[in-house]
Amino acid sequence: MNTNTIRIQSKRLMRLPFAPAADEDKAGLLQEYGRVFRDHCRSDAHVEFVVDHLMSTSQRCPAPAEIVQAAGFVQDRAAGDGLPAACDVCSKEGGYWVSCEERIDGRSGAYWVARRCTCARGRALAEADRRAEMDRRRERY
Ligand SMILES: [Zn+2]
Repeated sequence: MNTNTIRIQSKRLMRLPFAPAADEDKAGLLQEYGRVFRDHCRSDAHVEFVVDHLMSTSQRCPAPAEIVQAAGFVQDRAAGDGLPAACDVCSKEGGYWVSCEERIDGRSGAYWVARRCTCARGRALAEADRRAEMDRRRERY
């Protein structure tokens, strides 16, 4: 696997919210990213597609465990992402999230929130979110 690919794709993940600063052991996290890419991705293209997926779905700089998990279900670009195809509803919004209008009790007005779709693809993504959240909790405690 190309060292340059790992460096470039790891740097992309550092653009997500809550990425560590240089004095917060950013170098250490980049090193862990390199390790999980080498251990869990099959090719440079696979690394790139895993990061594309994380850039589209992660709301913060991912833990190495989230990369491992994404590498498990995100396939090489040529093979698609390994999930069921997007339905008519979620394909219009890129196949990962759908925007929903939601009212929050006790507040006036409605808010637009991103949700997983109700189709087979959306349910597979929601299940992946649930597993990633469980991994995050395990890391925290
Ligand atoms: Zn859908």
